Amino acid sequence: MTLATHTTAVDSWRLLPAAQQPSYPDPVALRSALDDLASYPPLVFAGECDRLRDRIADVARGEAFVLQGGDCAESFDAVSSDQVRDKVRTLLQMAAVLTYASSVPVVKIGRIAGQYSKPRSNPTEIRDGVELPVYRGDSVNGLAFTPESRTPDPERLKRMYHSSAATLNLVRAFTTGGYADLRQVHEWNRDFVAASPVGERYERLAGDIDDALTFLSACGADPAAVHSSEIFASHEALLLDYEAALTRVDARTGKLYDVSGHMVWIGERTRQLDGAHVEFASTVRNPIGVKLGPTTSADEAMRLIDKLDPEREPGRLTFITRMGARNVREILPELIGKVTAEGARPAWICDPMHGNTFEAPSGHKTRHFDDVLDEVTGFFEVHRALGTHPGGIHVELTGDDVTECVGGGAEVRLADLGQRYESACDPRLNRKQSLDLAFRVAELYRD
Ligand code: PEP
Ligand code: MN
Repeated sequence: MTLATHTTAVDSWRLLPAAQQPSYPDPVALRSALDDLASYPPLVFAGECDRLRDRIADVARGEAFVLQGGDCAESFDAVSSDQVRDKVRTLLQMAAVLTYASSVPVVKIGRIAGQYSKPRSNPTEIRDGVELPVYRGDSVNGLAFTPESRTPDPERLKRMYHSSAATLNLVRAFTTGGYADLRQVHEWNRDFVAASPVGERYERLAGDIDDALTFLSACGADPAAVHSSEIFASHEALLLDYEAALTRVDARTGKLYDVSGHMVWIGERTRQLDGAHVEFASTVRNPIGVKLGPTTSADEAMRLIDKLDPEREPGRLTFITRMGARNVREILPELIGKVTAEGARPAWICDPMHGNTFEAPSGHKTRHFDDVLDEVTGFFEVHRALGTHPGGIHVELTGDDVTECVGGGAEVRLADLGQRYESACDPRLNRKQSLDLAFRVAELYRD
């Protein structure tokens, strides 16, 4: 591959409008940060991205299920061993339940090690008559409402890289170093069921998993997959300068990979067909996700497929639908129906969070557990009616006991939201609510 081809492929997006990009006051400082980033080693390897594409291909064929989850926005301060461990643990616990219930492999993908940039509805925020740039995530500026903190700082792009590297290192250690042993994970689920006010409801499923594990060891079966696990990293590819600086030609294949994460997705606000984000994603070989909100037409979905997955390669493209519990049963059938009728086979996964946000009387942005569950239920119903595969769920969650979403077995009430509301952006399911969701989604397989 010549350098010229390389440059053309990486730079084609620069000719198109890019929504949601910060304005840096100092272009020289930006250039210098990007040059540094371009010299850094990859965070993930192209071969790992290929492996994830293969796993998602199984999802597209109806033979696997995706669990994608993590913070709305990671923060630099939260890069600690405990926080990453608890997030990993929550994902593993959910995956164990879902694997048993669905009887297919669960592909675990964190919103992790790179989820530092946020699209916003307004470029500025006004408080007490003072107008400052809006917080766009730790990769861009600080949350504190001061001019210094809110000014976009390109050095933060380098902190994003280093924080992602440290997080990935922990994820890799926790998933392969014995922590992810299935028997251990199941013990944690046992503890959750025993302590949950609604645990009785989950007893049977937990008991069935007990039996399956006992049967496995009685047979002398001890597969390696019982002792370790695989969690892939994903984030929204929002800051194109950062993503492009981490895009490299893979020596094996000569193809371009965005080595900032295994999978990257395009958000609801940046999926313009003639925009820079879709163009950028079309040039890299990673598995790509696209969020589809309630206004998406079937024609738009088809044009996204033509642009991002012209070869119709299973695993290349995942549509992450976020319709809202009230809309999902009405809107999704036509979208899936038309795409399927055209012969396209994206993986379909359900984000039951972003269509269900509301403001609590206390002013907190929140979501109700029942709406989240209702959207997933509707998603399953629609796929079952069409004979297509409900390929997975995409959730905002944390391993901590925060109070950001209401409802759940150990109910968080509207009045509790102020107790431990820590998200810098959207409300996440806490550890118990996440496990509740996994058990409730597992029940959908028994209906
Ligand atoms: C998100 O995933 O945090 C997000 C902003 O979602 P969406 O693009 O679907 O609104
Ligand atoms: Mn969010």
